[in-house]
Amino acid sequence: MKALDELTFDNRFARLGDAFSTHVLPEPLDAPRLVVASNAAMALLDLDPAVAETPVFAELFGGHTLWAEAEPRAMVYSGHQFGGYTPQLGDGRGLLLGEVYNEAGEHWDLHLKGAGMTPYSRMGDGRAVLRSSIREFLASEALHALGIPSSRALCVIGSDTPVWREKQERGAMVLRMAPSHIRFGHFEYFYYTKKPEQQALLAEHVLNLHYPECREQPEPYLAMFREIVERNAELVAKWQAYGFCHGVMNTDNMSILGITFDFGPFAFLDDFDAHFICNHSDHEGRYSFSNQVPIGQWNLSALAQALTPFISVDALKETLGLYLPLYQANYLDLMRRRMGLTTAEDDDQKLVERLLQLMQNSGVDYTLFFRRLGDESAALAVARLRDDFVDLAGFDAWAELYKARVARDGEYSEEQRRKRMHAVNPLYILRNYLAQNAITAAESGDYSEVRRLHEVLSKPFGEQPGMEQYAQRPPDWGKHLEISCSS
Ligand code: AMP
Ligand code: MG
Repeated sequence: MKALDELTFDNRFARLGDAFSTHVLPEPLDAPRLVVASNAAMALLDLDPAVAETPVFAELFGGHTLWAEAEPRAMVYSGHQFGGYTPQLGDGRGLLLGEVYNEAGEHWDLHLKGAGMTPYSRMGDGRAVLRSSIREFLASEALHALGIPSSRALCVIGSDTPVWREKQERGAMVLRMAPSHIRFGHFEYFYYTKKPEQQALLAEHVLNLHYPECREQPEPYLAMFREIVERNAELVAKWQAYGFCHGVMNTDNMSILGITFDFGPFAFLDDFDAHFICNHSDHEGRYSFSNQVPIGQWNLSALAQALTPFISVDALKETLGLYLPLYQANYLDLMRRRMGLTTAEDDDQKLVERLLQLMQNSGVDYTLFFRRLGDESAALAVARLRDDFVDLAGFDAWAELYKARVARDGEYSEEQRRKRMHAVNPLYILRNYLAQNAITAAESGDYSEVRRLHEVLSKPFGEQPGMEQYAQRPPDWGKHLEISCSS
């Protein structure tokens, strides 16, 4: 276990130089205080969880002090936002404080979001509000606990600093961690500004640090692109299987590591709805739930375009062609497991599609349906779940197919079935209304609900006695919350 001043830094991105980032110091928050910390994320830095409660912790992550070895930098990048190219974006309110490596030899970027203005702030104030910082914290740690790759969050620091959004709010900072903060938009920036030397440096950096095994391949850059395609196909498959809607899949929000990155008006589905749009400024539904699949490919094509100086167009096209089949295979595999199946049959995709259509028509809770499906034998479970559906004949027809499919799948006890299914079907997910309850309490100075919710979501698959209220469908007020896009 380490104390806060014992972290070991190795700032490899900062060493790339001023073409890639700008030195900026954090702008401190007034009266910084700990809102919530993640023990699991603390462990990644070998930090003793007790240090989160010390005043120096809130001062560090509230922008007041820094380690001597930290090299805070605002990164430059660009990206396609809602389909249109924005030539320059960058860290407008976040700073890469430095790269820390732990005793296991892993490197973690420490990124402080809400740290004040930078050369890339454009019209923004460089700040993040408490509400959005809590949402990012809860979502990153909850996704990780579900087994969905994501950036992590060490803590949220609250403050008295006033910040103007639709109304006056309070500033906060979230300390985000990831092995890299490099986005598709980093490559696009150097491609469109026609800086081939810097672009090559960036590609070498990513290859050496994050895809060293691709060096062994005849075409290392192509092998790296292929890895990025594979990881993104797997990531989107997990989002779709678990009902996660990112909301702002711009290329500047896509990580070259294939992890969930940059949280805005995201949502987990309550009722299943393929057309769900969680971002209420997304009028055309570009980033609707079901569009995440083709948009994943669109974003990879944008990255491919930026890689044309290194890789032939034919090879890029061929590799892009892997995305959809890989997505399909991963998705179907996850959905089979969610349905309790251990074998594969040709018609399984149809079985899933029919079920989702029925759930869509009846507004069935996506998470609880699968959880309950595993509670008992297939026959008993479908008999009980039947009441949730409006189209009873449709559901009965599906249930017959499902029971027959389960029977062909193999012989196992009810207990084995429950164990296997509950290990992949969470009971607790970050529903918008749960986040909203925690935020309302935190905005009036009570952080206990954020901390409790974080705890519950860190073990989403196990039943937690006394926490039944976190495993319910939303109340009416919580069903159609409009999450503000200003963050
Ligand atoms: P996002 O929609 O959060 O991914 O942000 C898009 C771009 O706007 C990024 O370059 C952000 O750094 C920048 N940005 C968002 N909010 C602010 C803010 N309050 N102040 C400065 N820059 C911001
Ligand atoms: Mg962003």
